[in-house]
Amino acid sequence: MHNTLPDSHEIRCTQRLGRADSKALEPIDQLLLILPKRTPTALWRKIPQGGKLQGLVRKSPAGAVPLLTTRLANKRQTLVVAAKIAADADAFDRLTLARKLVAAATAEKAGTLGILVMGFETDEQHALCDAAVAAALAAGFNLPEFKSESAPPKIRSIRVLGLDKKINLSRTIAEAKGNNLARWLTALPPNILDAASYATMLKELAKDHGWQYKRFSTKDLEKLGAGAFLAVAQGNDDDSASIVRLRYRPLKKDVSPTLSLVGKGVIFDTGGTNLKPFASMLNMHGDMQGSAVVAGLLLAISDLKLPVPVDAWFAITENRTGPSAYKSQDVVTAANGKTIQTIHTDAEGRMVLADTLTFASREKPNLIIDYATLTGSVIGALTTRYSGVFTNRADWHPRLKRTGRHCGERVWPFPIGKEFLEDLKSDTADIQQCAAKAPGDHIHAGSFLAEFIENDTPWVHVDLAASNHKGGLAHVPTEVTGFGVRYTMSLLLDDHILQATH
Ligand SMILES: [Zn+2]
Repeated sequence: MHNTLPDSHEIRCTQRLGRADSKALEPIDQLLLILPKRTPTALWRKIPQGGKLQGLVRKSPAGAVPLLTTRLANKRQTLVVAAKIAADADAFDRLTLARKLVAAATAEKAGTLGILVMGFETDEQHALCDAAVAAALAAGFNLPEFKSESAPPKIRSIRVLGLDKKINLSRTIAEAKGNNLARWLTALPPNILDAASYATMLKELAKDHGWQYKRFSTKDLEKLGAGAFLAVAQGNDDDSASIVRLRYRPLKKDVSPTLSLVGKGVIFDTGGTNLKPFASMLNMHGDMQGSAVVAGLLLAISDLKLPVPVDAWFAITENRTGPSAYKSQDVVTAANGKTIQTIHTDAEGRMVLADTLTFASREKPNLIIDYATLTGSVIGALTTRYSGVFTNRADWHPRLKRTGRHCGERVWPFPIGKEFLEDLKSDTADIQQCAAKAPGDHIHAGSFLAEFIENDTPWVHVDLAASNHKGGLAHVPTEVTGFGVRYTMSLLLDDHILQATH
C-alpha cells in the first residue's frame, strides 16, 4: 500500500562559488542558464562554449522560453536551456520563467540540475536563483500516484553555480516542503484521504515534528455547541468528522498563540442536498486544499524554527447527500450563539469555518489567517491566477496586495463588512448563510465569516481562487498549486505583518 504521507526523500541542493568554467559544469546534466535582456558578448565569453550559445540564441525568436535548447560538447553532453529576462521583472514573471525552464530541462532522464544566473546585480541574481530553486523543488516532487509502476524521479540534485557568495536557501527549501505537502494532501484520492485518515495523518505529522495534537470529535463539538460545523458533518455516513488543532510552541509550551491558521478541510464536497452536477463535482476531493495549505505552512514555519507560537486549525468533514444531511431552511445555532438560516447546502465551507474561527479567536491570537476553496464567485472575479483576500482591517489592503506581488503568489483584496450583511438578513434566524441569488458571493462569504470572529481579532481570509490552475502557476508545475504557503511566509517574513498586530 502506498504511504499516505510523502516519503522524506529530499533533493540535495548545493552551491559552487566562483566562475562557472568547464570544470564547474563537469557534473551538470542539465543547465538552466538565465541571462539579462541585453547580454553583451563579454558575458557570453565567460561561459564555456559561450560563442556557440550566443550564435544559437541570435537565431531563436525573441522572448521564447527557452530561447535555446542545446548540448555542450563536454563529456556529459550537458543539456543547456537558456532564457533572458528583464532585470526588473516581477516575482511572478521570474517564477514563471523558472517553471518553464525547469520543465524543458527535466524532460529527459533525471540528473544533476545546474542553475547559472549571470549578468545581473547581486540582489537580482539571488532572486532569480531562488526562483529557479523553488521551481526545481516543485517540479522534482512527485504527487501521489497509485500506478503499478512508480514514476521515476525528475531531478537527482540541484547545484547553483557562478555565485560570489553563498545564498541562504533555507527559506526557499522550507517553503517548497510546505507547498509540496499541501499539494500532496490535496492530490490524495478521497477514499484514501478520508476524514478519519486525515486526522491520523495530522497526528503523525505532529508526532514527527513535536507539535501538540488535539482532535475535537463530533461529540466534543456538540458539547461546544458547534452547530454550524455539525450541520455539515451530520451528513457524513459515520462519526469521523472533526476539528483538529495542532500547536507549534518553539519556546514555552503553554503560551497563547501569536498566529492562528485555519483551513477548510472538506474532503469531498458533493454539494450536499443541493447536489453538484458531474463536472462541478469531479475534483471536489480538492475542497480541503485550504487546510492542506495550513499543514504546509506549519511545516515550513516549524522547519525554519520561527520563534512564533502558532495554532493550526483543520475543519475536517465531508459534505454529503443522504437522509441525515442538512437542508435548505434548516436553522442551526453556531458556537458563538448566532443562529443561521441555511440557504444552500453547497455553501458548506462558511459553515464549517464559522465555528472553527470562533474557537481560534477565543485563544486570543494576535492574528488569524484562514484559507479556503470557498466560492466560485471569487474565481469569476479574478480567474484562477490570483486569490482573493478579505480582512477586518481594511487599511491592510495595500500591504496584502503588495506582498502578493513581492513573492509571486498574487492576491487581490475585496471589501467586507456590515453593509453587505443587508443581503444576508433572515426572517427566521440572526443571519442567512448566503444570499440566494445576489452576485458577489465571495464578499458575502467573507462578511458572514467576520461575524464569527471574537474579540475583534485581526483576521485575513484567503479565498483560494488560485488553488487550481491548468498548466501550473508561477513556479508550481501542477494544476494543484498549493497557493498560500509562499504568500503567507512572505507576509510573516517580508511584510512582518505580526508586528502590525501588537
Ligand atoms: Zn460546497
